[in-house]
Amino acid sequence: MKYFSTRGFAAGLEFCDILLDGLAPDGGLYLPESFPAVSRAELDAWRRLPYADLAFEILSKFITDIPADDLRDICARTYTADTYCHARAGDDPARIVPLRWLEPGKLGLLALSNGPTLAFKDMAMQLLGNLFEYVLTLRGETINILGATSGDTGSAAEYAMRGKSHVKVFMLSPHGKMSAFQRAQMYSLADENIFNIAVTGMFDDAQDIVKAVSSDAAFKAQHRIGAVNSINWARIAAQVVYYFHGYFAATSDNTQQVAFCVPSGNFGNAYAGYVARCMGLPITRLILATNENDVLDEFFRTGVYRPREASETHVTSSPSMDISKASNFERFIFDYVGRNPATVAKLWKDIESPARHTRGGFDLSNTPFSLLKAKFDMYLPGFHFLSGKSTHTDRLATIREVHARYGVMIDPHTADGMKVASRHAADLPDGVPLLVMETAQPAKFADTLREALGRDPEIPADLQGLEAFPQRFEVMPPDVDAVKAFIAARA
Ligand SMILES: *Cc1c(COP(=O)(O)O)cnc(C)c1O
Repeated sequence: MKYFSTRGFAAGLEFCDILLDGLAPDGGLYLPESFPAVSRAELDAWRRLPYADLAFEILSKFITDIPADDLRDICARTYTADTYCHARAGDDPARIVPLRWLEPGKLGLLALSNGPTLAFKDMAMQLLGNLFEYVLTLRGETINILGATSGDTGSAAEYAMRGKSHVKVFMLSPHGKMSAFQRAQMYSLADENIFNIAVTGMFDDAQDIVKAVSSDAAFKAQHRIGAVNSINWARIAAQVVYYFHGYFAATSDNTQQVAFCVPSGNFGNAYAGYVARCMGLPITRLILATNENDVLDEFFRTGVYRPREASETHVTSSPSMDISKASNFERFIFDYVGRNPATVAKLWKDIESPARHTRGGFDLSNTPFSLLKAKFDMYLPGFHFLSGKSTHTDRLATIREVHARYGVMIDPHTADGMKVASRHAADLPDGVPLLVMETAQPAKFADTLREALGRDPEIPADLQGLEAFPQRFEVMPPDVDAVKAFIAARA
């Protein structure tokens, strides 16, 4: 399988070539040259596979430059009950991603958050850790991963890379701005290849430092600086797997259809569902849920995509969805405009250096593309997303309702999904199960759970008392040179 950029760059690259890269050199995002079609016979053969074996079957279609035995071994080491050990009461831990029916055959929660950091980012990040180590060892290279986090991504990356040879992680976080649990998760790691830098400022200050360091080409090359951000193709590929797994868990044969509802921010999770559908998985509807930061809901309702400024981004109680530019969206638009890189490049030029009349976005309603969409809808329903948004009030009410009706606690992000799912349930064909993606466990967001239910969520046994563990982090001013010096001395 060869990879190329949404803006046209194509150099015959293979999976391992793009694994360690972020953006393509032309500023676009990498995509495989086609989405491999899955036959009915394959679906039949895969239905009863354990998660790690299913992951191998699907990933081997996207990764053709790692020998099959090695890839099988990487999948087997990644998707273990030891790593995904936080299954909740009543869920089958051997499933890795258990399906919990709220209404049997009708409404279920697909538990993506049983990994080390209790959020779905672990599903892909753990694979990335093992892939990085494999490729770097083979090549005799090292990498220094630099990132900024407001909470979930940083901890998922650190738990995936801890103790790995050939990899060091330098993670910037806003000093004193994360929850006590999130701080404890990151700062209590004692591994020698993990460096936490607490910047005295906001998340945006940390992010700006990462951008400044990464745009210094000489420093970047000298210190082999890399990233593990949400546009990494390997993360998307890993996420495709749980759509298949969820489909098999919810159905009894491969003629049935399923709908998924996905709490969304950077469009990585929902886009993986779209890829699964393009490969032939019978998904009748993908429902996308946003919080108050509703760029994606706006696009799917109106055809207008208008990324917001950081100053227009709401700080909400589902913080991992507080995103004003959906970084994976360019991949979807590439298909939407008929897989034409020149069109994509032009649309993103309108966003990145806006002329006044475009107001920093684009409008695809009443364009040839909306006709294209209508045409595609007929034979490839892949473009048909439903969407909706949910607010703080909705989250609290939904957490209460789900707890009262089903005796299940859900986290605020999953609550956004559940709220939007309930609004669209009536639009689904009869008999189609609706699975809501559980993207985090309530234990991570105790404050909001307390606000909704007046009581604390349960903390998994192995994470109790985490906040009392010794913590290791460096406090630094938001100063690019100081951060560079810190890295240079340790990279
Ligand atoms: C990252 C995250 C999301 C958003 O997922 P995207 O792939 O960015 O759309 C939703 N919920 C939780 C808990 C997350 O950590």
